[in-house]
Amino acid sequence: MSIERRSNPDSRCGEAGGDRLTRRKTFALGATLSLLPVLGSTIRAEAKSNVAKGNTCQQVPGLMLRTIGTVEVTAVSDGVSTLPLDVVPNADPFVANELAEAAYLPPNAPIPIAINTYLIRSGGKLALVDTGGGRFFGPSAGVLQQNLKAAGVHPNEIDILILTHLHPDHVAGMTTDDGRAVFPNAMLFVHEAELTYWNDDGNLSRAPNVQKPWFLMARRALKPYLKKIEPLTVNGQTVLPGVNAEELPGHTPGHTGLRIASGSDQMLIWGDIIHFPHLQLPEPDWGLSFDVDTTQFIATRRRTFAMAAADRMLVTGMHLGFPGFGHVTTNGPTGYAFIPESWRYAP
Ligand SMILES: [Zn+2]
Repeated sequence: MSIERRSNPDSRCGEAGGDRLTRRKTFALGATLSLLPVLGSTIRAEAKSNVAKGNTCQQVPGLMLRTIGTVEVTAVSDGVSTLPLDVVPNADPFVANELAEAAYLPPNAPIPIAINTYLIRSGGKLALVDTGGGRFFGPSAGVLQQNLKAAGVHPNEIDILILTHLHPDHVAGMTTDDGRAVFPNAMLFVHEAELTYWNDDGNLSRAPNVQKPWFLMARRALKPYLKKIEPLTVNGQTVLPGVNAEELPGHTPGHTGLRIASGSDQMLIWGDIIHFPHLQLPEPDWGLSFDVDTTQFIATRRRTFAMAAADRMLVTGMHLGFPGFGHVTTNGPTGYAFIPESWRYAP
């Protein structure tokens, strides 16, 4: 996997590469002369010149730390991809365009979809929730490793992997191209219904052609971890101190969120409750063509929205615009809205 190559996919970012080289040279010079105060001022000056050049291709690392009581949750971006409106079969295209316009998104265009993962530190353990889409979701996705590095986390340090479900955008980042574990020291929590579903050859043969490779990808992703899987079997099962599994079935049979509670704080990581915030909050009944049971998942989504709004609970999820922390409110007789939380000086 070549993160370095894909971190700068757009030729318009040429200046960024040049700046990286300049910065490396500056570090070498600083290290040689041990002129740390001078080095510091040089870096600050270069950071300023990056902005002045209009170089927007290199964003700050996609990380945001949020504490829930004593539990540390860091949203780690795997980047962003796009999906067409076609994957929302019962969306009214006219209404979808109105909602896109209201969200300042271009109409009749591929819809951006964030891919988020989460580090959770609790009880002396470090867990990673989902592993992003690896190299399968375009040049602006698959950047989990680069953001973990920016967070100072080496893959060997991950004690626990928790998978919300086994779709490719959640599992492709956990196994190398030659079939090795990217997180070799991690044990793995995943719902047993998920393992059963994706390992069933009957389900594979009945799946639409476009989804058949997903079964093979899920099996391949799990393979180097098979001896270390701890199936989730009970709603509310504890995976880390203060972190409990929450069954949210429908998108896939074992789709699972995480409810984090510590002190008086609570947060729900709701997995894939929604993929398109600007569409599925106002229109919760707009399911996806790849929901395994759309009817069940619409009920799960409505129940989750209602709970989050009534309890004023902090939520986040894999496809909310990064970092995706915020609250759900009611909006009209049957819809909802998402109020993103502002960046916090103290996490
Ligand atoms: Zn997903």
